[in-house]
Amino acid sequence: MKTLLPTSTAGSLPKPSWLAQPETLWSPWKLQNEELIEGKQDALRLSLAEQQLAGIDIVSDGEQTRQHFVTTFIEHLNGVDFEKRETVRIRNRYDASVPTVVGAVERQKPVFVEDAKFLRQLTKQPIKWALPGPMTMIDTLYDNHYKSREKLAWEFAKILNQEARELEAAGVDIIQFDEPAFNVFFDEVNDWGIATLERAIEGLKCETAVHICYGYGIKANTDWKKTLGSEWRQYEEAFPKLQQSNIDIISLECHNSRVPMDLLELIRGKKVMVGAIDVASNTVETAEEVADTLRKALQFVDADKLYPSTNCGMAPLARHVARGKLNALSAGAEIIRREILAK
Ligand SMILES: [Zn+2]
Repeated sequence: MKTLLPTSTAGSLPKPSWLAQPETLWSPWKLQNEELIEGKQDALRLSLAEQQLAGIDIVSDGEQTRQHFVTTFIEHLNGVDFEKRETVRIRNRYDASVPTVVGAVERQKPVFVEDAKFLRQLTKQPIKWALPGPMTMIDTLYDNHYKSREKLAWEFAKILNQEARELEAAGVDIIQFDEPAFNVFFDEVNDWGIATLERAIEGLKCETAVHICYGYGIKANTDWKKTLGSEWRQYEEAFPKLQQSNIDIISLECHNSRVPMDLLELIRGKKVMVGAIDVASNTVETAEEVADTLRKALQFVDADKLYPSTNCGMAPLARHVARGKLNALSAGAEIIRREILAK
């Protein structure tokens, strides 16, 4: 990346209200069949245009073609029965009715590759594509087949690697794996979580990222955050091993969080997507607030490795709020670019 402080989002952006119910997770589609396919593509075009208007450097599909960052990927796999549902505790935080693994999981055909090709032909800018990480995938299912979280994670890692290789071939520049579960299951992260992630990126020549956050701004997550005390040190558990891993970029929640910035010292040498936009608040940051977070991060991240970003996806926000936040991200990054170049 030649641009200094290239901006990007963690992933999802709000969908237009003609496509899906706004400000809702797992929002049902409002269109069907051919109209739905065309509607998703139109939404992807709009989402790209909004990122470009805001001056975002590394663009994405805004996750316009998927209902949810984990579920939609799993829906395309064999071995998971979506009719057979069990209630499980997601990330030790809230109960949800989830599908059941009933047999060997496998990917019969590509999941997002056509969407990625579509985005690729719309822009020459670097593009980033998000996939769920193996550990976060198993945490969203009831497993009645492998009966081992680790075994299932290795199977998903193989499948993710197949998808990632095809996304790379489709021209994706950065493939990102979303692993909010890394902030919860510390023993598993170190035992096999990071290892399965490295299996998922095996053989890739494009850049790879892992996104670890404290979740969307939904009530279950904001309630959980209240229990975490004055300092959030969760990242401390996974960072040493991630620093040693082959993952190129680590995407983190920073702004308005209680994560001590000096934890970034533990991943020195990695590129860091610093979350400078709070996705759990409708208040649009000022450029100066964004700049302030980036300035703090610069104490621990070299300027050529700092990627200003959002704390998490913005799917549940109103579109005008998300637009405002994208503009603030660009403007804040520009303040810091000038400061660095003036030195
Ligand atoms: Zn996130």
